[in-house]
Amino acid sequence: MPDQALPDIPVPSGCPHCQTQNATVNRFCSLCGPPLDSEAGTAVLQDDIQRCRVDSIFDRMLKDPEFKE
Ligand SMILES: [Zn+2]
Repeated sequence: MPDQALPDIPVPSGCPHCQTQNATVNRFCSLCGPPLDSEAGTAVLQDDIQRCRVDSIFDRMLKDPEFKE
């Protein structure tokens, strides 16, 4: 069984906060927690935005019975 295809993740140069060198597969510092690269940080941010949008749409659907996708 082949390994799952991993996206190209830039090699973290170390935690910007505590300078800990994490494993390259780590996207977040194992010691203090923040994203090790801007890509990971952006992904987290976009995930939050997506969730907000979904919540908003769901809210509209609940409030407006006429609302259809
Ligand atoms: Zn850290």
